[in-house]
Amino acid sequence: QERTLAMIKPDGLQGDYTDQIKAAILEAGFEIVEESTFQLDFEKASLFYAEHSGKTFFQSLIAYITSGPVLAMVLEKPNAILEWRALIGPTNASKAKVSHPRSIRAMCGMDSERNCVHGSDSPQSARREILFFFGDKMNL
Ligand code: ATP
Repeated sequence: QERTLAMIKPDGLQGDYTDQIKAAILEAGFEIVEESTFQLDFEKASLFYAEHSGKTFFQSLIAYITSGPVLAMVLEKPNAILEWRALIGPTNASKAKVSHPRSIRAMCGMDSERNCVHGSDSPQSARREILFFFGDKMNL
């Protein structure tokens, strides 16, 4: 079994996509081990996306991710990190609508920024991001 951090971003929650996203998660065989909603502030969001701090889109990304609550979930199944990334599809949701029409980002995303969901990209990121949201609650 492997764990990954999934996050429904503010556009996903505001667009009422939560039930559809969760249905897709369960249908794909993931177990939702933990879930909780969080309102990130500037500092927390900057910490979460620290690796993007030098990018041109950083300020915009922080404004977007703090624009409303997010739903963080710990998902578990064999190969969870890669499988969740495959299920959500490419970063750019407008391209995903063409290339991966059945992906979650194709369903609820808009463009390269507002792509409605997040997934950890490595075991190191998964560990860091699970600790970020769920801290000592998780027995890692
Ligand atoms: P995530 O880390 O959220 O799962 P990702 O790994 O597919 O997404 P990253 O390259 O890590 O994409 O970028 C993190 C987030 O920053 C993206 O999900 C998106 O919201 C935003 N982002 C990425 N590229 C751009 C861009 N060119 N313009 C605006 N926002 C962007």
